Amino acid sequence: MRMTLLAATAALALAATGTLTATGARAATSEDQAAATLLKGAKFAKAKESLKGDYDRIIQDIITLTEIEAPPFKEDARGAAYMAMLKAEGLSDVERDEVGNVMGLRKGTGGGPLIVVTAHLDTVFPGGTNVKVRREGDKLYAPGIGDDTSSLPVLLAFIRAMNRAGYTTKADILFMGNVGEEGPGDLRGSRYLFQKGKYKDAIKYFISFEPGEAGRVTNAGTGSRRYKVTFKGPGGHSFGAFGLVNPAYAMANAMVDFATIQAPAQPKTTYNVGILEGGTSVNSIPFATAMTIDMRSNGKAELAAEEKQFLAMLQPAVDKENAARSTANGKITYDAQLIGDRPVGNTPESAHIVEVATAVVRQSGLEPRLGAGSTDSNIPMSLGIEAVTLGSGFETFRAHSLDEGLTMNPPQDLANMATGLATVLTLAEAR
Ligand SMILES: [Zn+2]
Repeated sequence: MRMTLLAATAALALAATGTLTATGARAATSEDQAAATLLKGAKFAKAKESLKGDYDRIIQDIITLTEIEAPPFKEDARGAAYMAMLKAEGLSDVERDEVGNVMGLRKGTGGGPLIVVTAHLDTVFPGGTNVKVRREGDKLYAPGIGDDTSSLPVLLAFIRAMNRAGYTTKADILFMGNVGEEGPGDLRGSRYLFQKGKYKDAIKYFISFEPGEAGRVTNAGTGSRRYKVTFKGPGGHSFGAFGLVNPAYAMANAMVDFATIQAPAQPKTTYNVGILEGGTSVNSIPFATAMTIDMRSNGKAELAAEEKQFLAMLQPAVDKENAARSTANGKITYDAQLIGDRPVGNTPESAHIVEVATAVVRQSGLEPRLGAGSTDSNIPMSLGIEAVTLGSGFETFRAHSLDEGLTMNPPQDLANMATGLATVLTLAEAR
């Protein structure tokens, strides 16, 4: 998960989520009223008590799940453990789908929409990484402990809080641990859910939880297109065959051209050469080199334009090298392989799910901040299904690094969790 907050949209959000009155104050929306009623209710006090009583258990579950490694495409063991946890909370229809998403239903009273509440099982760390959790004072350290392992037990605590408080909901809620959120996974769990999963046509709302505080509401999905471009040539001895075309120079031509792209600042659009590979020895003209590149944007048209520009640069870069040196033993060729595709999407600020999420934040005494990110919500957003990504509660640090950790600050963490739970409850029309 990666988030960038758009400071400008925070102010806009405030204006857009309620009609501004003549005095400039926001008029309360129906979502504000629903959130306020829920937060003041006796049942919600019980739900908060439940979260508080569960704090140590949440920490213990985070440790248990963190220590079951879950590299991209190898989430099975953790998925099985989490599925057993979902089952233990009394959900019905607990199952694992074809790609490894695990899920269970908390049935509503009927006639309500289906809401998906999920956190991702996978981490960025390869198999064999030491995932033993280390505790130092109020901090826990282990690769993957924050993103997104810390969210999984919070969802379980939500279910227990709903049960203990005696909530019924109009909506059916599908609680899930999904696979494939991180880089190479390319959102395959979320993609499967909406393209082939058995609930695909029934899902009305989608909430993905990632670590962090409750005020942040990610309602825009940054899209990306990623390529691995391989350049091939005849190769040869660096001294004896000097003068033959070299794929490294063709690739360098392409990189220099790529770096000249003027990416728009708004909507934010970027590019990067991230991995360089190739060659076998210092005294050989390589027969192959490769570069892996990333292009991102908050705008669909801008991303498509950048991609078109990039792809159009490759053949001229190769042609330039073929013209510069001898092709007597063969020419330089290239192959561009699409390795990552995250669609751009967004849930409008006027959508019910955003109105609910921001209303709960406001009614909890915080300031909602809308933003863009690249998360599982990109898939439903790109399909026009209302989706947001919310903070599940813990403050984490050094995500995606071996020093990853989280800070235990119970009052703050519990307040954040309560806000997340209130959002789910308000959206599900809990009574
Ligand atoms: Zn994440």
